[in-house]
Parts: sequence; structure tokens; C-alpha cells
Amino acid sequence: MATTQMLIAGNWKMNGQLQAAEDLVRSIRGAAKDDGCEYLVCPPFTALSTVASILREPGPRLSLGAQDCHAAASGAHTGDISVGMLRDIGCQYVIVGHSERRGNHGESDSDVRSKAEAAHAGGLTAIICVGESDQQRMAGTALSTVEAQIVGSLPEGANAVNTVIAYEPVWAIGTGKTPTLEQISEMHIHMQSVLKDRISDSSAASLRLLYGGSVNPGNAAEILKCQGVDGALIGGASLEADSFLAIGRSCP
Ligand code: PEP
Repeated sequence: MATTQMLIAGNWKMNGQLQAAEDLVRSIRGAAKDDGCEYLVCPPFTALSTVASILREPGPRLSLGAQDCHAAASGAHTGDISVGMLRDIGCQYVIVGHSERRGNHGESDSDVRSKAEAAHAGGLTAIICVGESDQQRMAGTALSTVEAQIVGSLPEGANAVNTVIAYEPVWAIGTGKTPTLEQISEMHIHMQSVLKDRISDSSAASLRLLYGGSVNPGNAAEILKCQGVDGALIGGASLEADSFLAIGRSCP
């Protein structure tokens, strides 16, 4: 069981034009109570401003995050968004290194580290995503793959305030498949030990490690009870307020 407040994060991906984003965040906020966890929503860039203005209205706390950022503060980077812009709009978090960014945009561990460094420098908490492919899982290299991704992606100065790590097996994202509970615990315990070698013991103990990949209201309670799991990063099930909140209410 976690000793820090669990983080229940919704990655809306490329879903939600403005009205749909507004409806979703209002439904989540309307039904969210003090569920004992921290809720975070990560809408697409185009909806951040709309969602941010709703979150400034009185109501239960919901954190706001973006799905990516550029490593540079400004400049000739057509189509990209800087940490300063995200901060300006009201974000507290940014996801970096999601497997869809690594896979579709060729982002390396070093790119991910640069983005996480930019997040830290700009005052955002970086959610660094790591996870093995199905081939790596079958080959028995899941632990070493994730270890190498953490070593390559984690900036100097990472701590429990400025960093969250999300373990998302690539083969579990959007597929309805999940690792066994034993495999999830094994990975999270391994990630804790990798972190202990790189950051202070107290930071390593309290840095939140999320599980992501086909989390839904039916499997959340068991997954969130796994040793070393401090929350969840949720794609599909975060697009419905009821299922997102049901996951939050499954926190031990
Ligand atoms: C994700 O994309 O981060 C994710 C976990 O997606 P899903 O919950 O749909 O598997």
C-alpha cells in the first residue's frame, strides 16, 4: 500500500474537441469528492485553456497536465509547445516519453530526459513513461529494458516532487491485456531499487510510481493494491467520468 497520496491520471490522448472536453471535465469535477487520491486530467493541447478555466471555478481539486512538451524554452520549433506555455495556461504536470511518442515520433531516452529537464526547470512535474514491448517481455528482458529507460530518461535532480514514473507495458496499452499482479509488483519493486541507486533514499521511497495499460474499474482495485503501485495512468477509461472516478475510488 502506498504511503503517499495516490495519483489517478487521465491521458485523453487525441480525443475531445472543445465541447466534449468541457463536458468531460465538468462531469468529472461534478462527481469528484475527496476520494483520498489526487486526480489529474491531461487533455489535448487545444483543450488545455478551456479545461484550465473550468478548473479555476470553485470545486474539488483536479490537477491539470499536458501530454508532451518541447525541451527548448522557445524558438523555431514549428508545432511544438514549451513548458513555459504549459505553465502559463495552468498546468502542473506534463507527460513525457509516452510509448506513442517514443514509437510514433522516434523519441529516445535522451530526448525524454531533455523534456523532463525542461519540465523541472519550468516548475512542472514530469510524468516519465517507461515500459517494455511484448517481444521484450517474451524474451525475459522486461526488467532490464525498463531499468535502462529509467537510467536514460531520469534527469539529475529528479525527486518525489518534480517527477512521477509511469510503468506502461507497450503491449498493455489500449489492448485490454494487463500483466499479472505478480509481474506488476515485481516491476514496481525493481523500479524502486533502480531509483534508490540514483536519487536519495527518501526521494526514492516517496516518488510516485504509476501503473498504466488497460486499467479499468474492474481491475483497478487489485492493481492499485500491488506493492509499489502509487496510482494509475489511464487512457481509454479516462474518457468517461464514471469509469475514471470509479478507478479513483478503488484506491486502497
Ligand atoms: C495510456 O495510453 O497511457 C494508457 C494507459 O492507455 P489505456 O488505459 O487505454 O491502455
